[in-house]
Amino acid sequence: MGLFKKKSGGKPKPFEFIQEEVKANSESEQALLKQVEQYHHQKNFEYALAELLLYFNMHPERDQFVLFLAATTLRSYFRESETENINVIASPILNDKRLDPIFMSCTSCYSYWILPPMRASYAVGSGSSNSNSCPFCGKKSVQAGRMR
Ligand SMILES: [Zn+2]
Repeated sequence: MGLFKKKSGGKPKPFEFIQEEVKANSESEQALLKQVEQYHHQKNFEYALAELLLYFNMHPERDQFVLFLAATTLRSYFRESETENINVIASPILNDKRLDPIFMSCTSCYSYWILPPMRASYAVGSGSSNSNSCPFCGKKSVQAGRMR
């Protein structure tokens, strides 16, 4: 964990899903949680993400908390958009570099997917039995982040 705590000039830190960091620890975080929850309820996932990125700007030290909520938001968004006609998240928000740590990608087939929330440590995984393989093409060419 010490490895990931180093400040690295603007580059997003890997997402660790540390349990204690996903809890709101201030009134502003409780308010953020409530707001995001409300947007989820309205299926307005773009507003939820925009709100989270705004909070990210104000509290960059709370990146793990914000990324956890962003991962939850995007998982709901992708799940819901399979069956329902919901508002599409505009690409500048969806492609925001600050969200990269919550994604894994495959260098063979260029697929990318979201890490499952609540993981104990930063590791490759998508629920498949062989966690080092791409869930789409099966090749062992998985890397953290999104390819750019
Ligand atoms: Zn692949």
